[in-house]
Amino acid sequence: MAGWIRFGTLLIVTSASTSEGAPPYRRAEATIEARVEDLLARMTLEEKLDQLHQCGTADLNPNNLASRADEFRATYGSYILGGSPTVLETRNGLQRRAVEESRLGVPAVFAADVIHGWRTILPIPLAQACSWDPVLVEAGAALAAAEASAHGIDWTFAPMLDHCVDPRWGRIAETFGESPWASSMFAAASVRGYQGEDPAERGRVASCLKHYVGYGASEGGRDYSFTDISRQALWEWHLPAFEAGVRAGAASVMSAFNDLSGIPTSANPYTLGTVLREQWGFDGVVVSDWNSVLQLVRQGFARDGADAAAAAIRAGVDVDMADGLYREHLAAHVSSGRIPMETIDDAVRRVLRLKFRLGLFERPYAERNHFTDTRPDTERGAVALALATRSIVLLRNDGTLPIGGDARIALIGPLATERAALLGSWAQYGQPDETATIAEAIERIGRGRVVVTSVTEGCPIIGDGEGKDFSAAVAAAVASDMVVLCLGEHAWMSGENASRASLSLAGDQLALARALLDIGRPVVLVLVSGRPLEIESIAPRCAAIVAAWQGGSKAAEALASILLGDANPSGRLAITWPRVTGQIPVHHGSRPRARGGDEGAYRDIEDSPLFPFGHGLSYTDFEHGPIRLSAAQTTLDGTIEARVLVRNAGARDGTETVLWMMQDPVARITRPAEVLRHFETAEISTGEAREFVFRIEPRVHLSYPDEEGRRLLDTGLVRLRVGRQVVEFEVVE
Ligand code: BGC
Repeated sequence: MAGWIRFGTLLIVTSASTSEGAPPYRRAEATIEARVEDLLARMTLEEKLDQLHQCGTADLNPNNLASRADEFRATYGSYILGGSPTVLETRNGLQRRAVEESRLGVPAVFAADVIHGWRTILPIPLAQACSWDPVLVEAGAALAAAEASAHGIDWTFAPMLDHCVDPRWGRIAETFGESPWASSMFAAASVRGYQGEDPAERGRVASCLKHYVGYGASEGGRDYSFTDISRQALWEWHLPAFEAGVRAGAASVMSAFNDLSGIPTSANPYTLGTVLREQWGFDGVVVSDWNSVLQLVRQGFARDGADAAAAAIRAGVDVDMADGLYREHLAAHVSSGRIPMETIDDAVRRVLRLKFRLGLFERPYAERNHFTDTRPDTERGAVALALATRSIVLLRNDGTLPIGGDARIALIGPLATERAALLGSWAQYGQPDETATIAEAIERIGRGRVVVTSVTEGCPIIGDGEGKDFSAAVAAAVASDMVVLCLGEHAWMSGENASRASLSLAGDQLALARALLDIGRPVVLVLVSGRPLEIESIAPRCAAIVAAWQGGSKAAEALASILLGDANPSGRLAITWPRVTGQIPVHHGSRPRARGGDEGAYRDIEDSPLFPFGHGLSYTDFEHGPIRLSAAQTTLDGTIEARVLVRNAGARDGTETVLWMMQDPVARITRPAEVLRHFETAEISTGEAREFVFRIEPRVHLSYPDEEGRRLLDTGLVRLRVGRQVVEFEVVE
């Protein structure tokens, strides 16, 4: 298929290809369904089962692929690759064997975890969500797809759509925050970015919605754990983003590790069959998570590998990632009649359909291009910089920021000179040595405007927590007008298998902060992390606090531009920031407590998060006018328009996000205290005003699911809030 893709001003032209005189499945002009059926009819059972096998590969040397022929059979359906300098050669080497050495020449499909960039690393998804800008998120996914596909990746295991309200879970970094509505918007944006109009276009990849479903509710925030989720919670919180991703046309879905109220999600006929296939009509590929079929044994759901393979394929897992149990056991299950041939054929059909859809039969090999051969250029950097800048959240500011006026800054803290920590987990082919440190960026961007008097580590990120000799850091602070204190986490402290029992600043970092705060110089606290951290005890004493997250390749430049005032911060928290770890879960979607006021609240902390969902400051002042409604009532099938005028009353141009929060005080099924139902971001110049409009359709914005996913919609009062502005309207028959 010929076409082109664009991000920014970059245009990649793709070429057309046809085939004549070949068997029907090789004819590009035939329909995909005809090609699938023709090919399927030619395949042996063994060839079919190999298509359902996904081979996990560690770093492979392209030069010794031939000698490992027994390990990697030419008929294997798919491979997982990681970012490395030789990934393209490895991939093409494996592909050559599939295409040239297998009987039918079925190309393999190559997958990778392109989570937030491939070579140009973007902010972690949690940070991206704080931009509230789906267009930018889509551009980021398009850039990631272009870089990854240039390295031979056809299929990304992204976006991650898990719903999580427990920042102890390391993978919260990979989520789009705690609002299912926002996650749904970012899900669709990511799918569009990765796949474009057609994933076969050069520079695009197939996407995979993961981890289906409920993995984000891992008990106690521990990874790979049981999840006890009611059907109501499943439908309200966990399924919506997946449904949005399916509707956006995602090519695949990954079943998860978690055990959902006793039925593991990689063998769950309800979520995989009833919901995904029957109710949503999903006809793409379902791939298991890494060894999640084998894990059915450990979870106590299957007796052995044979049993696990049967349970997974029967529930609807098409491709078995890594553990090889389908290859090992399904042939015997077919001969014994335990698994009907039709079940295998359906799974193979879906895999072949994906390969035809990706154009792999016409274009099996990846070719070097601009993205493979050069370091990321300014244009690629610009996407990363824009996303990183828009992701940063200014949590607190007493006016110390932006820094200017020749201020003499002591840069202190272990994160001031880190590179890899800025990239976060799943940094794939991201290059720490191409990533500026915060110290380098502030020195370069602030040259001539501020003076960096010293750069001092203060303490390592991880230490014994016993309190250290901070004299060098203290002396540096005393010799300066202010401190920029960079604290947080290593990249490996968040992400997969990186749960933490406590959100506290690791090692001696809190003690370092206290020692510096005691001096009395203004302290700007910069947090580099994959999750909110526990800073309640020092927050009120900090002059400013900035959540920089793990901002990717351009994290340091983005942060420097915000600290120095070249950019005006506009990020807003996509997740509630707890005061202390023991307050978890704390999020905007809780149900109202049965007793009012502070009854039932913890007695030892304030009954509010440290920073609520949606919080984020700017260097300018946005004034919200009252919310004006087009009517006081609407019918169930009607619409009502809400408008709010936002004026930039400050001295700087800025970007404002309006989050429309809804509350339905009385319903057949109790509703959360609040839910987000619309958001919009716009630039507003100083002195200007902009009207934000929300066209409310009760069926879309007010209905909610019951425990079977049926939509309910009640009449009655609805409360609508933007910032401190609140109005009510009524929904009538
Ligand atoms: C993770 C997935 C990932 C897969 C393949 C698993 O351990 O849970 O998110 O896509 O590995 O790398």
